[in-house]
Amino acid sequence: MEERNKDEVMEQNAPAETVDTEEYEKVCFVCRRPESKAGEMICLPNQICICHHCMQKAFDTMGSSELSYKDVMNIASAMGMPEGLQQGMQEGQKDDKKDSDKGKQKPKMTNISMINLSDLFNMIPQKQRIKKKKPQEQQEKKPLDRRKLPAPHKIKASLDEFVIGQEYAKKVISVAVYNHYKRISSDMTDDVEIEKSNMLMIGPTGSGKTYLVKTLARLLDVPLAITDATSLTEAGYIGDDIESVVSRLLAAADNDVERAEQGIIFIDEVDKIAKKRNANQRDVSGESVQQGMLKLLEGSEIEVPVGATSKNAMVPMETVNTKNILFICGGAFPGLEEIIKERLNKQASIGFCSDLKDKYDDDPDILSKVTVEDVRKFGMIPEFIGRLPVIFSLRGLTKEMLVQILKEPRNAIIKQYKKLLAMDEVQLEFDDDALEAIAERALEKKTGARALRAIIEEIMLDIMYEIPKDDNIGSVRITRGYIENTGGPMISLRTAGALPG
Ligand code: ADP
Repeated sequence: MEERNKDEVMEQNAPAETVDTEEYEKVCFVCRRPESKAGEMICLPNQICICHHCMQKAFDTMGSSELSYKDVMNIASAMGMPEGLQQGMQEGQKDDKKDSDKGKQKPKMTNISMINLSDLFNMIPQKQRIKKKKPQEQQEKKPLDRRKLPAPHKIKASLDEFVIGQEYAKKVISVAVYNHYKRISSDMTDDVEIEKSNMLMIGPTGSGKTYLVKTLARLLDVPLAITDATSLTEAGYIGDDIESVVSRLLAAADNDVERAEQGIIFIDEVDKIAKKRNANQRDVSGESVQQGMLKLLEGSEIEVPVGATSKNAMVPMETVNTKNILFICGGAFPGLEEIIKERLNKQASIGFCSDLKDKYDDDPDILSKVTVEDVRKFGMIPEFIGRLPVIFSLRGLTKEMLVQILKEPRNAIIKQYKKLLAMDEVQLEFDDDALEAIAERALEKKTGARALRAIIEEIMLDIMYEIPKDDNIGSVRITRGYIENTGGPMISLRTAGALPG
């Protein structure tokens, strides 16, 4: 926290010259609107810019002689009035004070403090500066070239390197993303307008939902914002406004509106904003959030604060069009299996082809049979689901998949530890049996692949602590016994023939 404050202070105190005025928009010093909205700025010394509207207002106020001494002084300093003159005005102020002490009644001019407006300019944090839009000619050159867009099978192949299993989900997401970016890069001049392919991803916790989206955004090199639906509330209530998700994307795109408009927003835990059953109060964090999200999903122009998640007077605002932003919603939807089972059982027990009632009870892949109707029954409103046309599910991870996750992905945890020990010139090996034992322990925790990391950290702690002590150690083999606390790791020394028992 302290670290952050320090950073912010440093940012705020950064000299104004460091700001690349070519790249960032000018912001009106009074109303905080950027150049793109408020129009051309009148630039005063000390890098202070004022829009025409505010300048006119200032003159009008001066004309109506309602301006206090303080206002005059502020404007004087903002307009770069020579210091001598300003000081003269200040002296006058001191005289006034003396006079009023003596009991003489001179109106106004008390308690005046001078501020240097250029100090205030330096208080605008870097993260609140807005990047300039590119000129029209450059805008027409679409940043996403359709020919450069990888085909779905290539997207999937790249995902395969990182994400284990989840074949169906990877296939669906690759096609949807390919179509989405094709839609952006197509010139929408003809009658056929391709609709947005926002997605709803259903899968147990730790099955790789977030990981899949993160990997995808990295492969496509588009900005990604990940938010949690649980923190969102209807505007005006404690919590984040719904629009804050777009602010986050803008921040991820380095305040570059154009880049943000082609990014991906992942909203996790959407099941937590399901309609509350039997709620007789206003449902500010459930149904209302779904309602509020409709226009975002559909595509509309949204005014978002730059560099902050809530609107206030000091934060500049920017307009972001969400038409081309790909929204992916994810959630574990606990209890959805029961709803699907109930529907399937009902279907199965009707008519001539009636079936066994408990046919689906032990089906591990029941989530893949999800339909829009089931999600609606769970508590999502039809308008919300209607805007997420691609619905698919991820499977709960099995023991075999967990073992694969440990050793196969490009940045698998085991590979990371091997690399760490290789730096000490020690070879690390895991018995297949040991990996299975780790997977079994992870399954017990019921948090999917997320448990793996914690278990590995725990078992590797002693090894990472002890090994660097002894330069003679050449390799370490982790056995099932070591994982189950019934034995130790097999340690071999560097010199052949000097192996301990
Ligand atoms: P959730 O489904 O709850 O969003 P995450 O995507 O956050 O789960 O998964 C947690 C971690 O587990 C990821 O950071 C990733 O390292 C690992 N993981 C989960 N599923 C997979 C998978 N199918 N393949 C590879 N790693 C995975």
